[in-house]
Amino acid sequence: MHATEREIVGKEDLNPFQIVQKQIDAAASLLGLPSHAVEIMKHPKRVLCVSFPVKMDDGSVRVFEGYRSQHNDAIGPTKGGIRFHPDVTLDEVKALSMWMSFKCGVVGLPYGGGKGGVICDPHDFSKGELERVSRGFMEAIADIVGPEKDIPAPDVYTTPQIMGWMMDTFSRLKGSYSPGVITGKPLIIGGSKGRSEATARGCVFTILEAMKEAGRKPEETTVAIQGFGNAGRISAKLLAELGFVIVAVSDSRGGIYNPAGLDVDQVGQLKDTSSILEYAAGKQISNEELLELDVDILIPAALENVITGANADRIRARVIAEAANGPTTPDADAILREKGIVVIPDILANAGGVTVSYFEWVQNLMNHYWSEAEVNDKLQTTMVDAYKAVRNLSEQYGVDLRTGAYMIALLRITQAMEARGWV
Ligand code: GLU
Repeated sequence: MHATEREIVGKEDLNPFQIVQKQIDAAASLLGLPSHAVEIMKHPKRVLCVSFPVKMDDGSVRVFEGYRSQHNDAIGPTKGGIRFHPDVTLDEVKALSMWMSFKCGVVGLPYGGGKGGVICDPHDFSKGELERVSRGFMEAIADIVGPEKDIPAPDVYTTPQIMGWMMDTFSRLKGSYSPGVITGKPLIIGGSKGRSEATARGCVFTILEAMKEAGRKPEETTVAIQGFGNAGRISAKLLAELGFVIVAVSDSRGGIYNPAGLDVDQVGQLKDTSSILEYAAGKQISNEELLELDVDILIPAALENVITGANADRIRARVIAEAANGPTTPDADAILREKGIVVIPDILANAGGVTVSYFEWVQNLMNHYWSEAEVNDKLQTTMVDAYKAVRNLSEQYGVDLRTGAYMIALLRITQAMEARGWV
């Protein structure tokens, strides 16, 4: 590591709450928004900190801590996932709830942003323990969520089954069947067709738009994907089906690389049975090395702060599509911009998940369900329209796509706050 890099790491603030506030300022100053409106958007409206006891299989009782942050409900109820992860912090959950507001703003959903997190490692739990933690957290936040208040969904390390348990706990507490309280549920209890694939599918739609502009064909386009959870794994599958060459993937344990392309189905099977690192036809690489590969498209699909001031100058991808929330810091953004790397920002690239969550909620409220083709068609329209709107505004102002996306979202929320008489 060079001395200059160490300095940059030392200087850069990696607190996601500080980062999102910086991003707001950058876009708000271009729009000339009233300062009091900006101030409101720089803070969540409500944050709940909970602790709740759970009986473990060995008879002990563990107390878990969790958070739910509701950022801004000017446009509608707050919406966003719940993550189960050992590194969850309050500032992270606050920032993630703010990114949700801006994500909903970019794609024009009638929601504000929310996010929840429980500090835990679900890999340590038996199925029964996982169920009790999930139900315990829903019970702890039940007063502030609801189909017209705040609607959770899956996020890092949470699944449709967990959403099913949470919906059941909420419905029991309220004494009535309430599928609209949470999205990402199993199909049989009001989930939407296409929801599981939606984050990845939405991300792919934005990549296809960017490729169209660059005049590139899938077969001549290489892709590296960091993270092999819901977003990363399904992005790999969908892109491979379209003919893109997936040269590298990774999970929290490390990655595999083959410049001639990986067999994505085989990697998926290994993930389910042992580890992707068992893949024979590829070289093992670290997560850091994956990010620095010479590829056309890099998809960070894991956690925040993986592309920072410390490694941005070594990124060689032509396009970065942020399937994760918050993978790129402001210092990194400045370096990438200078290098001419196009970043399709998280609040646009991964908005497909919450878009189909919205469709799920609408179907729950109507009690009438759509075909998968109908869902995917509506998703495509939403993502392509949002991509074009962001691209056009960014060009008009001569700014990067992140700033353009923020401008669209901040303007929408400010207009709603004005219409409600808040500012
Ligand atoms: N957790 C996802 C996100 O960060 C989905 C949220 C939702 O569907 O409400 O966008």
